[in-house]
Formats: sequence, structure tokens, C-alpha cells
Amino acid sequence: MTDVFDADDLGTCISCGFCLPSCPTYKLTGDESSSPRGRIALMRAVEGGEIDLFDPAALEQGSFCLGCRACEPVCPAGVPYGRLLEDLRDAQWKGRRRPMRIRPLLAFAARERLIRLVGRFRRHARFTTPETDTTLMLGCFERVLLPGVSRAAATTLPGVAIPLDQGCCGALHAHNGERALGEQMARRLADRPGRIISTAGGCSAHLAAVVGRDRVVDYSEALLEDGPLPGPILVDGRRARIGLQDSCHLRNGLGISEAPRRVISALGDYIEVPGAADCCGAAGTYSLLRRRDSRRVLAPKMAELSSLKLDFLVVVNPGCQRQLITEVRRARLRTRVLHLAELVEMAQRGPR
Ligand code: SF4
Ligand code: SF4
Repeated sequence: MTDVFDADDLGTCISCGFCLPSCPTYKLTGDESSSPRGRIALMRAVEGGEIDLFDPAALEQGSFCLGCRACEPVCPAGVPYGRLLEDLRDAQWKGRRRPMRIRPLLAFAARERLIRLVGRFRRHARFTTPETDTTLMLGCFERVLLPGVSRAAATTLPGVAIPLDQGCCGALHAHNGERALGEQMARRLADRPGRIISTAGGCSAHLAAVVGRDRVVDYSEALLEDGPLPGPILVDGRRARIGLQDSCHLRNGLGISEAPRRVISALGDYIEVPGAADCCGAAGTYSLLRRRDSRRVLAPKMAELSSLKLDFLVVVNPGCQRQLITEVRRARLRTRVLHLAELVEMAQRGPR
């Protein structure tokens, strides 16, 4: 017996298989071992000592899984699959065994002063002293790679403070074999009392799991609370055609899917993208670690997008934004990929 997994979590699965059709890796392979049920069977074999934690099949499935948690909302037994995967990676990706490619990312995200410094250089939103009990969290990679999103979120939620001393929420660490550090970082970020608004689905779900759902507000929820929305956005004199790519963790982890759709419907003609709820293949570090599989997961969505002729494809998580900007450009689509905050900021500037 090992003590990698919580016995209650692992014991919850009744092996019904309801989760199989929702799993992107099972859809790719049709192979039970790359389904949630198959992975749970592997975890049980590890826990029972029948196979080694570093058995090639266990290592492969720990890495092939996207961690998208699409298997959770459809599970009648309430298996906390995301937590089981964190347990597995925590044990498999320790120390020397952590994939080389993600080590610099994790090291960067753990260094708060460095994030602030690079973020300032990239001119993300200005920090403001908290005078209200609600603060805006600037994601660590968003600040550096997509500073326009941080600026747009700050502009469109003007009453919200942006504390200077905020670091990273630790989601990246929790999902990549450093759960204790990831939880510690989330608690540090939430040290100050009050609610925290996040523009990144992955961060929202991780923060809520550690410090409580009542402390965390998704950007789309904050907008709806805030009052009337601007709009509509016009393209060539008509209302813009706008689709959404869900954030897996926002949808599957926190159950938030309606709020961003309601916001978009005020800003233009909302077009539901078939498979909007399916993972785009970015999945945190997945697109770095398994680029080929990441693109295979995304391929059906790209085919849908090319026929929808959207003006804008909206995302609510920076990882999805990087992935879709790259692939939409590669496919030469005339669709612009934007974060919801950037779209709201565009609507505030007036119709065009
Ligand atoms: S994870 Fe849930 S849906 Fe999947 S086999 Fe187990 S009990 Fe059934
Ligand atoms: S997290 Fe996603 S990829 Fe992994 S088993 Fe669940 S549905 Fe499949």
C-alpha cells in the first residue's frame, strides 16, 4: 500500500463509465486506459502496490491527462478527479522527476518580486491601494504575456483595488506536482480580507478550492454585479458575431458557464461554438509538455471555428488565449481572439 491518494477520494468511483464520453483523451484514443475510469483503475493499482508509481503506464497516463476535469460534472458519484490527478502528479513529478520544460515557469511564478518587476516593464494595470473589500488579482503570466488583459480588467472595473504586494495564486504549482507550495501561495495571496476578482478560470478554481468559493469572484460575475454593460460592438455596421471558449476549470471546477455568455450577449450576437465546453488543449502546461496531443485535442474545434465565421472568439483564461491566438493565426481565420475584459473595454470605447 502507498499513501499517495486519499482513500475516500479513490473509493468514491463506482466504475460506471458515465465519464468516458466526456473525456478528450478517451475521445482521441478510444482506449479505456486513457479514460477517467481507466486512470482511476491505475491509481488503485498504484495504491494497492500492484504496480509501481513510476510504472510506464502510470507515468504516461499521469502526463497524457489534460486535467480538464470534464469528467467531474458528469460523474454521478462525485469523484473529485482533479484532486486525484494532483495527488498522482505530486508523487510522480517530485524533484528531479519534474519535467524539465516546466521548471523555469514554476520557478518564475514562485518569485513574486520578479513577476512584479517584469509586469511593470510590460506596463500592466497600475497598482492601487485597497480602499474597498474587493481586489483584482492580476495573473502572473497574464501580467507578463498579456498585459492588455490586466489593463482592460482594471479599466472596466474601476472601483476595484489592485494591491501592490500580490504574487501568484499557485495554481500552476498545484497542477504540476507542487501542491503544498501551490496552496501556500493561494493562502498568501488571500491574506488580505475581502473578495478577490480573477480573470483566469484556472486561478479562480484553485483559489476557491484553497480559500473558499465565497472569497472568489470570476471577472464575468463581477461585471454582472457591477451594473449595465456597454454595447453593442458593431462590425461593418452590424452587431458583431461573438463566440466563447469556456475555461475548463471555471466551468467544470466552479460551475461558471452562464455568466460570460450573458455578458457577451449584451455586447453583440452571441454564437454558441459547438464544443465550447471542450478543452482547447492548452490545459496549463500541457501545450508545452505535449504539443502534438494538445493540437490533436484542439483540431475538431478549429474545424468548427473556420465554419462559424466569428468576428471575435472570447476566452476567460490566459492559457486558452495563448493557445487560440496561435492556432487561429496559423489557420488564417479572420476571427480575433480576445479576453472577455478586452472585449468589454472595446465596447466601452463605443460602437464601430
Ligand atoms: S469517475 Fe465517476 S463517472 Fe467515471 S467511472 Fe468513476 S464513478 Fe463513474
Ligand atoms: S481530467 Fe480531462 S483528460 Fe483527464 S480524465 Fe478527466 S476528462 Fe479525461
